[in-house]
Amino acid sequence: MRITEECISCGTCVDSCPVDAIVESGEIYAIIDECTECQTCVDTCPVNAISD
Ligand code: SF4
Ligand code: SF4
Repeated sequence: MRITEECISCGTCVDSCPVDAIVESGEIYAIIDECTECQTCVDTCPVNAISD
C-alpha cells in the first residue's frame, strides 16, 4: 500500500492501522514496510489518498 500526494496530512488513517505502519513523512504521511496489506486504512481517508 502507499499514500499518494493527495494526502492532506489529516492523520485520520494512523489509528486505523493494526500494525502502526502509517507514519508522518515530511509534508505527508507514508506507509512503511511493516504494512500487511490488510486494507483497513483505505476507507478511513477522506481524500482517497491510500492506494494499492
Ligand atoms: S493496509 Fe493495513 S497494515 Fe497496511 S497501512 Fe493500511 S491498515 Fe496498516
Ligand atoms: S487519512 Fe488520508 S489524508 Fe489523512 S493522513 Fe491518512 S492518507 Fe493523508
